[in-house]
Amino acid sequence: MKQLAVIGLGRFGRSVALTLAKMGYDVLAVDTNEEKVNDIKDSVTHAVQVDAMDEQALKALGIRNFDVVIVAIGQDIQSNILVTVMLKDMGVKRVVAKAVTELHGKVLERIGADNVVFPERDMGVRVAHALVSKNILDQINLSSDYSIVELITPEEFAGKTLEEADVRMKHGVTVLAIRRGNEVIISPGAKQVIKSGDVLVVVGRAAKLRDLEER
Ligand code: ADP
Repeated sequence: MKQLAVIGLGRFGRSVALTLAKMGYDVLAVDTNEEKVNDIKDSVTHAVQVDAMDEQALKALGIRNFDVVIVAIGQDIQSNILVTVMLKDMGVKRVVAKAVTELHGKVLERIGADNVVFPERDMGVRVAHALVSKNILDQINLSSDYSIVELITPEEFAGKTLEEADVRMKHGVTVLAIRRGNEVIISPGAKQVIKSGDVLVVVGRAAKLRDLEER
């Protein structure tokens, strides 16, 4: 059973902590602000009012034994960076740190954060895609070039097999799965017929996917 700790209970940290707790994980929530700690204490395993810059206090919480620690301090970049360094120095296996700017993200990577997340930037990207595309449902960016996208079947594909729609050649993307109601067809073959209303999960270059999503 994974044990996770979230440091900083702003909008992002609070949401991460509550979601993990709802998923059944053991969650320790930490903030300097008493009100934020009180707000969350009934929903997570433990909530403590501690300044994460205080190394002794962190040690007393046994933070080094946690599987994942999420540094969700946002605005105070100095604290965010120092706490991340401290956690890695203490031997925490996986530290996930929230960055507010690209430069901040680079610094976090340099000092040993195992994952750097950019919640505001990523949410901006998602919202922008959702605004301009009629048919995109969800998107995972694998790299700056490649993404996995879940989209409603463009009408021109309906009734055709994957081979006839020629998605791979014409659109340069690969269909990983087709969702039809409750059914999921994984790794569909060339003869698989696409129906109107199907949800396609496709992987490909971001530029190629954009062609599809704007249809
Ligand atoms: P968001 O943009 O996600 O709302 P904020 O930066 O506004 O994030 O909030 C960060 C949270 O981190 C605040 O609740 C703040 O009290 C808390 N915080 C800041 N510094 C520390 C620290 N040294 N130790 C623990 N919590 C901290």
